[in-house]
Amino acid sequence: MKIAADLHTHTLLCRHAYSTVTEVIKAASEKGLEGVGLTEHGPGYPGSVGWAYFNTYRDIPREMFGIKVFCGAEANFMDLAGNLDFTAEQLSKLDIVIASCHKECSPIGSREEITAMLIAAMQNPYVDIIGHPDNPIYPVDADAIAEEAARCNKALEINNSSPAARPGSEEICRDIIRAAKRHGTLLSVGSDAHYHLVVGKFDYSLGLLEELGFPAERVVNSSMERLQGFLAAHHTKQ
Ligand SMILES: [Zn+2]
Ligand SMILES: [Zn+2]
Repeated sequence: MKIAADLHTHTLLCRHAYSTVTEVIKAASEKGLEGVGLTEHGPGYPGSVGWAYFNTYRDIPREMFGIKVFCGAEANFMDLAGNLDFTAEQLSKLDIVIASCHKECSPIGSREEITAMLIAAMQNPYVDIIGHPDNPIYPVDADAIAEEAARCNKALEINNSSPAARPGSEEICRDIIRAAKRHGTLLSVGSDAHYHLVVGKFDYSLGLLEELGFPAERVVNSSMERLQGFLAAHHTKQ
């Protein structure tokens, strides 16, 4: 399976990553990708940027070094009701939105509570992707989130940094892929790079998808055409 665009990257602006926006886009181009998503941690993550950062994306060309640039965010779950660290109006201005749980700012809860929290965020029209839903700290009912994601046309992310960032996530990730297969759910693949040399690294994610026979047609960023159609469904300005 080929991945056309890396949909999950960070820059030094979040203060726990090491490359600039320009270095990230250039690295994606040099890796032969056709697109890259800038998905900085939202304001709820300690040390990350405020809304003014995302609000100034207007100056970044949506095509650079010969590839498409999607200016977005990795929003944080801020409460068990599924509220994020952006207003709906703010999210409506972004090209791509990942919603993720981070222990630095997201509430811990039971499997039932976390499942309900993720499902609540899927009702948000601007959320495209649920980021790394394989985190053992945030247990989920894989069948329930896969079923609702399929109903809401949202993607569940198979995050290439999970083995390093979320030890013990691998079996959960397999369960999510199996559930996605059963329910016809869309998946996305992202490097979650915190340094530009990691942009476009998908070996772990693609290995799992291949092992479990997940079809490329249901991976939203397996082609630019598929990706742009998917994003257009949630973001009218695309
Ligand atoms: Zn990070
Ligand atoms: Zn994350």
